[in-house]
Amino acid sequence: MIRLTEIKLPLNHAPEDLTTAITTKLKISAEQMASFVMFKRGYDARNKRNIQLIYTLDITLTDSDLTNDLLVQFESDNHVKATPDTSYKYVGEAPKDLTERPVVIGFGPCGLLAALTLAQMGFKPIIIERGNEVRQRTKDTFVFGVSVN
Ligand SMILES: Cc1cc2nc3c(=O)[nH]c(=O)nc-3n(C[C@H](O)[C@H](O)[C@H](O)COP(=O)(O)OP(=O)(O)OC[C@H]3O[C@@H](n4cnc5c(N)ncnc54)[C@H](O)[C@@H]3O)c2cc1C
Repeated sequence: MIRLTEIKLPLNHAPEDLTTAITTKLKISAEQMASFVMFKRGYDARNKRNIQLIYTLDITLTDSDLTNDLLVQFESDNHVKATPDTSYKYVGEAPKDLTERPVVIGFGPCGLLAALTLAQMGFKPIIIERGNEVRQRTKDTFVFGVSVN
């Protein structure tokens, strides 16, 4: 995917103007673009009479060779780059012959995330929680909703 940054369009632009802005910037036809997603949209309101939308867009082309060609062609343009891989990377992976399992004590938000992450890494965590069952805990929080009137 190609990431375009600083695509500026007027506040009241038509949806199809995005496609036009992409194809114009990359000098490609609409048919060469398979799809695009909006990664970010910001506002530049420094000039109150000309407020602009600033887009960061990720574009998928129909041809991966064309993607590579364009990245080379626009090498010196800081607003045309390969979309970075921001997918989450686990810091570790459980060994195939897992013998010892980690223990997570407490199943609050921190324990939940720790246990989930460990499980996703294949560590089969054991969770110990000393508190009430979820249903009772929910009931316990009802007293917090005391009216201040
Ligand atoms: C009255 C109140 C209202 C709140 N309202 C909000 C809110 O509206 N929004 C918000 O974002 N945050 C709110 N918070 C804060 C939020 O609850 C905490 O930030 C969050 O719960 C902390 O998560 P935690 O996993 O660190 O700890 P906890 O949620 O406290 O989880 C710790 C868990 O460990 C268990 N445990 C502890 N010791 C042991 C042990 N020795 N053996 C086994 N289990 C054990 C406990 O039973 C508990 O379930 C509120 C907190 C309080 C007290």
